[in-house]
Order: sequence, then C-alpha cells, then structure tokens
Amino acid sequence: MLKDRLEEVEHRIEEACRRAGRKREEVTLIAVSKTKPVETLKEAYDLGIRVFGENKVQELTEKYEALPKDIHWHMIGHLQTNKVKYIIDKVDLIHSVDSIKLAETIEKEAAKHDRKVDILVEVNVAQEESKFGLKVEEVIPFIEQIAGFPHINVRGLMTIAPFVENPEKNRSVFADLRKLSVDIMEKNIDNVNVSILSMGMTNDYEVAIEEGATMVRVGTGIFGARNYNI
Ligand SMILES: *Cc1c(COP(=O)(O)O)cnc(C)c1O
Repeated sequence: MLKDRLEEVEHRIEEACRRAGRKREEVTLIAVSKTKPVETLKEAYDLGIRVFGENKVQELTEKYEALPKDIHWHMIGHLQTNKVKYIIDKVDLIHSVDSIKLAETIEKEAAKHDRKVDILVEVNVAQEESKFGLKVEEVIPFIEQIAGFPHINVRGLMTIAPFVENPEKNRSVFADLRKLSVDIMEKNIDNVNVSILSMGMTNDYEVAIEEGATMVRVGTGIFGARNYNI
C-alpha cells in the first residue's frame, strides 16, 4: 500500500542520511507521480506529501488544477520551448534546463508573469546517447551565459543516472555531479548558487544521498510500478 511504501522510502532516506552524517532536512523527497491518477496523488497528499514531480506538461497542468494549491510542483522531464508558457506560473522548480533556447524561453515567459523562476541545469554525467542534458564540460559556459537572465535563478544541477542493477555502479556519477557543483561554486558567478543536487531515483536514491543529493526523485518506490497503457 501507498502508506507502507512511503514509510519504507522515508526510513531508507533517514538511514542513508545517518550513514552519510547528514541531517534528514537536507534532503527533499520528490514524489514522482507521472502516469498516476489524481486520486492516488490525493492519497499521497493526505499522507503529508507536498512535493510532486511530473514529466509531461499537460499532465502537470491537469493535476495542478485538480489538487490543493499548497502543493509544490516540479517539472522533471524534457521540456519543449513551446510548452513553457503552460507551466511557468505553476511550477516551483524546473529540473531539466539544458539549452540556451529553453532558458531564453523561460526567461521571456517568466518576465510576462513578473516572476523569477528557479531552475536546475540538467547534466548528462554518464554521457548516455539517449539522454537529454549538457555534457559536463559544457555546464560552466552555459551557466555563465544564463546567469544574467533577470527572471531565472540557477539553483543547482540535476542528472538522470543510467539504469543499473547494482546502484553502487552509479556512485561515481553522483560524485561527479557534486564535484561539478563545487567547481561552479568556486567560480563565484553572480546570481548563481548551485546548492541543489537533484539526483537519485527509486533504484539508487540511497547512494545518491550518500554522495550529496539534496533532492531525490522517487516514483516507483512510492507509487508502485507504472502502467503506460492506460
Ligand atoms: C520517472 C522519473 C523518475 C522516477 O523514477 P523511478 O525509478 O520510478 O523512481 C525520476 N526522475 C525522472 C526525471 C523521471 O522521469
């Protein structure tokens, strides 16, 4: 049941924090609710969840309309520029910024709403062909280019690690993202504070926490397997 799975995830997060000598409050659990119906999200809401991650614009906006307004919505999936306008006033954080064109569109739409939007830069640390995200060496020039955008706050980095049977295999991916964030911090770029590290999913969030994740994106571990046919 949802309640049991949530308790299990919470327990594992606490244990990973304890092993790493970190405080539980340093890690935000994002409940990745993609493909799940509104009723299931309401159930999670009633169990105390307030941060939900979605990867599709239409699904996010529909759920946004249907659910209580104290929910924090995170856009975690690849975002097309022509859809930015539908979510710009609904999301607290966009995890998947990986092109100047997308950053410019977010800047333009945020300006229309007279708001500043928090974003993460998506990094393809493992250099997988199939994945979105910038290469590690592209990240600093990219951030230097968008740092001056008045309606964007660069708040951190995000990566999607490869699917592996043994989560230990992703430890170096998470460590590399953390190292990159330290390199960026040392550059002292105006307006840029990359203190958020969004890394770790159901299969590997404990290792990610040990390596410094401040946000973990857990779907299956909370909601059970996804059914893409319905
Ligand atoms: C689906 C998804 C997740 C959650 O995946 P699980 O393995 O179900 O925890 C996390 N991050 C992103 C970007 C996703 O698309």
